[in-house]
Amino acid sequence: TVELHGIRKSYAGGVIALDGVDLTVGDGENVAILGPSGSGKSTLLRIVAGLEDQDAGSVRFSGVDQDGVAPHERDAAIVFQHFALYPHLTARENITLGLRHGLGLSKQEAAARATDIARRMQVEALLERKPKEMSGGQRQRIALARALARKSGIVLLDEPLSGLDAQLHAVLRLEIASLLRSIGATGINVTHDQLDAMAMADRIAVINHGRLEQVGTPDELYAAPASLFVASFIGTPP
Ligand code: ATP
Ligand code: MG
Repeated sequence: TVELHGIRKSYAGGVIALDGVDLTVGDGENVAILGPSGSGKSTLLRIVAGLEDQDAGSVRFSGVDQDGVAPHERDAAIVFQHFALYPHLTARENITLGLRHGLGLSKQEAAARATDIARRMQVEALLERKPKEMSGGQRQRIALARALARKSGIVLLDEPLSGLDAQLHAVLRLEIASLLRSIGATGINVTHDQLDAMAMADRIAVINHGRLEQVGTPDELYAAPASLFVASFIGTPP
């Protein structure tokens, strides 16, 4: 369970990025944070991952306050909006590095897991290539495979499908959702695309100006939006 209580964050210059966010994501649940550009989505994910400190509020994983716990010690894998693969390593090495050194898997175990994830993410043919030999969308899929291969309890995805063509986008959003389910991960994925949120998430948290306007199942938000903003973000196209 990921529990966020009263998370606040402002940046120099007086920008209030997060203005009191409360959210509980149950074990194995997949929640989408849906909101427009600048609404605080990435800031929230970075705080959950421990890459940034909140000014106020608490982050708990399975009841344990994560205050002072370093990012690599948290049971969370993150895929950034602007993914970062090691440029000098092949895709396979990018995926297996953390499995061997972070999780302590043997070379064979790491290789087998990399192959399995790569097949499911449709990147098996890219495994021996380096990042500069791949397109942006291919790199994105490798970065996703790397995060999902860790089988962390918590998987944080920041716009995991950005930059993919429409067909791959539609295929991968289902594949990611099913992978998260099959590893039993608790997922928080950030998107500005209501169709992604609807397709991937058990519940959607709509964020606007650093506040959650509504949290509910796709059906609940669709049937009873709490505000005009939610309606316009979720609602049927005009
Ligand atoms: P996008 O969809 O464009 O990625 P977002 O919802 O992820 O947007 P954030 O990146 O969380 O938004 O930013 C929230 C607010 O905080 C914005 O107003 C942004 O300009 C500001 N902000 C984010 N990071 C910093 C920073 N390091 N310094 C100053 N302001 C920042
Ligand atoms: Mg962002």
